[in-house]
Amino acid sequence: MKLSGFIDGHLHVLGIGYYQTIVDLSNAQSIEEITNLLREKKDQTIIIGRGWNQDQFIEKRMINKNDLNKVSNKIPIIITRVCGHVLVTNDFMMEIAGISEKTPQVSGGNFDYLTGVFRERAMTLIHNKMPKLTKSDIENYLVLANKTLLKNGITSVASDDFSSFNVDYELIINTMKELYEKNKIQVKITQQVNLPMTKLIDFLNKGYANKMIHPKFKMGPLKILADGSLGGRTAAMLEPYTDDPSNYGIQSFSDDELYEKMRLADQYGMDSVVHAIGDATSLQVIKILEKVIEESKRKHHHHAIIHAQLTPKSQILRMEKNKIGAIVQPIFMNTDIKIIESRLGDRKDNIYLYKTMFDRINLGFSTDAPIEPVNPFYNIYTAMTNRSIKFPFIDSFNPNECFSLQDSLKAYTVNNLSYIYEDKLNDGDYIIIDRDLDPNDPNMIRDTLVLKTYIDGEEVFSID
Ligand SMILES: [Zn+2]
Repeated sequence: MKLSGFIDGHLHVLGIGYYQTIVDLSNAQSIEEITNLLREKKDQTIIIGRGWNQDQFIEKRMINKNDLNKVSNKIPIIITRVCGHVLVTNDFMMEIAGISEKTPQVSGGNFDYLTGVFRERAMTLIHNKMPKLTKSDIENYLVLANKTLLKNGITSVASDDFSSFNVDYELIINTMKELYEKNKIQVKITQQVNLPMTKLIDFLNKGYANKMIHPKFKMGPLKILADGSLGGRTAAMLEPYTDDPSNYGIQSFSDDELYEKMRLADQYGMDSVVHAIGDATSLQVIKILEKVIEESKRKHHHHAIIHAQLTPKSQILRMEKNKIGAIVQPIFMNTDIKIIESRLGDRKDNIYLYKTMFDRINLGFSTDAPIEPVNPFYNIYTAMTNRSIKFPFIDSFNPNECFSLQDSLKAYTVNNLSYIYEDKLNDGDYIIIDRDLDPNDPNMIRDTLVLKTYIDGEEVFSID
């Protein structure tokens, strides 16, 4: 059956590509297997692996720099143990980091120059010196991500890419533009502009606000990360975490800082889309947006809260009154379903009120990939059932907040139009899927495969 192409309202295109270049070493049973896996990535400018565990190795010894030197001594190689607290690197990377036998140890960690093993805080000696992304890395990530998105039936995205890597934002803009001009990427991108204040001023002075870089690529709203996550207990809460009673989480900005940034963006005609997960942060963002909206000279706006996870009904009503939208990720329940009760206690009834929001404000769906898989049918399944794909034995999280198929499709297409600054769906952006979707059968919807994807009428993906 034919469907409109999906619009994902918030993700990280570069991150999606980057994740595919990291080597997964978690199933490696030997050092030889690891070195073979790393060799497959020798066309990259840096090789990063994760997940190894020496207890599984048939060689019965620790992997060391000599093993990695044999893979390459011209490309930096960094592989991190499954626990995340130990890494091994090659001589080339240690040379880049300026490490020799004489380098003093770091407090809170240690390293061994002769084996290339770094533990705990000594790992920062390597992490801080990792080479900056090159243009060819960016190209590589974009091409990989473009393929993944089209394969999943996504034809447009709003993407936050300036903040993920330590790289000049203009290099990203110019590289994307070139790839579009060469037709090496086709998915349409609206950039959610995530820059620190000094760089934002530079961006505005150079006339980038709302700029159309290419017919498929434009600059969108200001993006701000205003708190952390529930999993990490860094989302900022009005009441402390149930399982950590002295912890209220962390707000990333003061009210004044947020206001200054959002007001400045507004003066240049840019909306703000703000990551807020805890109820203290969503309240903070709503209050400041109310002020920005009231003072604005603009008649219309498309401000939104991204995530809006613990956003109680009283806050939703304020969003409705001020026409503040939401860009949400039902698929987050996939992982969160296990921790919500312990983190929040009774407040679990105030989390993921996405259907309530959908009925009152402009709510669009997204995945925040690569944080969660980009597959829209997984996301729709979660929205329709409020169940986890990872933990299928856990009951529906909140049956009152489940979406119908029709509403899910609306949240994934029409409702996201305002977040990619389009007035209507493009008839040339559509997909062919392998089945007719049955609104009463979320399981069959979840397993849908995309057969073909079209952008502006051009076939850009076809299943093998
Ligand atoms: Zn994100």
